[in-house]
Amino acid sequence: MEKSLGIAIIGAGITGLTAADHLVKAGRDVELFDKGRGSGGRISTRRTENGVFDHGAPEIQAESGAFRDFLSALGAVSGECGSNFGAPGMRSIFDPLISRLDINQGAEVAGLARESRGWVVRLTNGRSVAHFHTVLVTAPAPQAQSLVASVAPKLARDIDAVSMQPVWTCLVEFDTPLPLPGKLSGRGRVMRADRMASKPAREDAREAWVIHMRPEFGLEDTHVDRAIVAPLILDAFGETYGLTLPQARYLDAHRWLYAFANQPLGRPFLGDAEAGLLVGGDWTLGRRAEHGFESGLEMAKAVLSREVVSV
Ligand SMILES: Cc1cc2nc3c(=O)[nH]c(=O)nc-3n(C[C@H](O)[C@H](O)[C@H](O)COP(=O)(O)OP(=O)(O)OC[C@H]3O[C@@H](n4cnc5c(N)ncnc54)[C@H](O)[C@@H]3O)c2cc1C
Repeated sequence: MEKSLGIAIIGAGITGLTAADHLVKAGRDVELFDKGRGSGGRISTRRTENGVFDHGAPEIQAESGAFRDFLSALGAVSGECGSNFGAPGMRSIFDPLISRLDINQGAEVAGLARESRGWVVRLTNGRSVAHFHTVLVTAPAPQAQSLVASVAPKLARDIDAVSMQPVWTCLVEFDTPLPLPGKLSGRGRVMRADRMASKPAREDAREAWVIHMRPEFGLEDTHVDRAIVAPLILDAFGETYGLTLPQARYLDAHRWLYAFANQPLGRPFLGDAEAGLLVGGDWTLGRRAEHGFESGLEMAKAVLSREVVSV
């Protein structure tokens, strides 16, 4: 499909959404592509017959004024110590943004090509979208690396500096309440656990929990079935907190293959606006949503400043 030159953003997590928001507000034509069924990336909520589970980031900490303002403009609910939440789920934070952006969901990008008229985005379904003057890639580092490897090998080699850790997550609803506070900041093999109903502004009477294990958990077998892993996480959780757990009425697990950067890059993005290809994400600056926000904002600013210079 042929279109006027605009900006393509691959990934509609907080990095891509932040960049898109900034560029669209500056009057630019932006099209996003995300392989997921919904936007938000690792700030994710699963909707089930039993209600919602925030199986990605359980909360979003905001340190800078700019990030606090961004979240507050979206209507995020603020909690204690700079924490922010969506309601009814974490992903709801992005609803106001998603409704005003041009996002292709279920659009997995297979690769990029550079033609004389601009960038071509090739999707795994065989469709190609062209031409864009700039592409921003905001996938986790290993996925971004494979997307740019054929068109920018030097850039792909630079991404090698960043590796990412997996995390196993358990989604569970118990029949009866656990004698625990609603937020557990971790012990032993458990990295973090949250009762969904304990988050602010939730109308939720369930005893539903999301338990994130430390990256070391499950590493010995990377292809284990989630139906096998979910009960193993429950066993570890019960053992860690000295509890005999009640019956689970909902139980599932999710594996985040690229949850966190081991060692962030140390600058907000790679590539340059002159070449029309930039790569960013939380992994450039850290392992929290705020780092994705900063990366997305800096990429958008770089694109806009380059356009001003070239006028
Ligand atoms: C278990 C867990 C707990 C966390 N806890 C916290 C916390 O307490 N506080 C906090 O601030 N942060 C937390 N985080 C981190 C936070 O979720 C991330 O920092 C943030 O979501 C990263 O956003 P991003 O946009 O950079 O990447 P992502 O959210 O990963 O978005 C990248 C997007 O790219 C898409 N994509 C990838 N490849 C392709 C492709 N080929 N084609 C099309 N689309 C593609 C993906 O579908 C995804 O939507 C946690 C993360 C996890 C996994």
